[in-house]
Amino acid sequence: MKIFTTGGCGFIGSNFVIKQILQENNTILNFDSLTYAGNKDNLEKLKDFNDQYTFIHADICDFSTLYNSIKDFNPDVVIHFAAESHVDRSIDNPSAFVSTNIVGTTNLLQASFKYFSEVISYDRGFKFIHISTDEVYGSIKEPHLFSESSPYNPSSPYSSSKAGSDHLVRSWFKTYGFPAIITNCTNNYGQYQFPEKLIPLIIANCYDEKKLPVYGTGNNIRDWLFVEDHCDALIKVINTGQIGETYCIGGNNEVKNIDIVHKICSIMDELKPRNNSSSYKSLIEFVDDRPGHDFRYAINSSKAQKELSWKPKESIDSGLLKTVEWYLNNESWWRKIQDRHNTQQRLGLNKK
Ligand code: NAD
Repeated sequence: MKIFTTGGCGFIGSNFVIKQILQENNTILNFDSLTYAGNKDNLEKLKDFNDQYTFIHADICDFSTLYNSIKDFNPDVVIHFAAESHVDRSIDNPSAFVSTNIVGTTNLLQASFKYFSEVISYDRGFKFIHISTDEVYGSIKEPHLFSESSPYNPSSPYSSSKAGSDHLVRSWFKTYGFPAIITNCTNNYGQYQFPEKLIPLIIANCYDEKKLPVYGTGNNIRDWLFVEDHCDALIKVINTGQIGETYCIGGNNEVKNIDIVHKICSIMDELKPRNNSSSYKSLIEFVDDRPGHDFRYAINSSKAQKELSWKPKESIDSGLLKTVEWYLNNESWWRKIQDRHNTQQRLGLNKK
């Protein structure tokens, strides 16, 4: 299978690309503009797979490069990960989110639809898969869960721009019969996650014995999914997902942020005890809450589990252990990102 991937140098995209090549033996074109979140080092494992892996360094807002790349590659599937994805950055710089998540997604829909309608035959079984988030549904009180039919109620510029992109994808299906599928996934964690996100930030700060910042009271709840479980679900969507459908993908792992931090501290206490033998928990520091911070995200992924015959393999404890071990064994990977980030900050280049 030939899979055209946008955003394959980011966190989830790179895990997906690696699995597609090393496990599924498919051929990938990775189209990525390498923003601050894109990192070619994530795909180091593929350096000897030139027959199966091609990288194009370009922006999804550039229609002609996008369309020509799709047409020349001639894919069976387009899967769209590229996005501005960090909520805090969306509060500081919302227009970058509108540009990539809404304008860029529209461009990708137009380029993919032109390819689907003018270049390939209908019986090729082409699919367009749009990767979105459970944040489009907003916050929900316990014990309720969101599902595919829940109304959209996004809170941040990030989730609003993702909601906009979901509506556009759905409209291309309804208006043009474009063979699109949408997935809305909960919070991912695991290897290659950019170290400003909660879990890798806490691991890196433990490592350096720095303060562990936790928003507000730390009681906000997220449903956590190990990134490899997400990628396995996406493989199922590619193989058996139904055109025009939406699938909510979750980990059944609802945990308060403060409990995630405690769990990481306990693993670090075990794997890398501090010299002064106190727990890393003593480094926890509560900081001002993020404006508009959603209290709880939780989705019901029974449709995906039933219709795609998928379920997550990792519990939060097994997945967190794997994640902490990976960050401890790959210090050079995250140090390089931190160094680049600190240099950009010194030069005032860190807004996007
Ligand atoms: P990420 O920020 O780690 O990676 C985004 C990638 O997209 C980067 O490689 C970046 O260079 C690329 N990119 C950004 N703008 C681009 C543009 N204009 N043109 C081409 N490439 C561009 O994101 P992620 O965490 O891997 O998330 C991937 C997708 O999954 C996003 O659409 C996100 O909304 C969605 N999602 C993420 C999570 C999560 O917990 N991380 C949860 C649910 C859904």
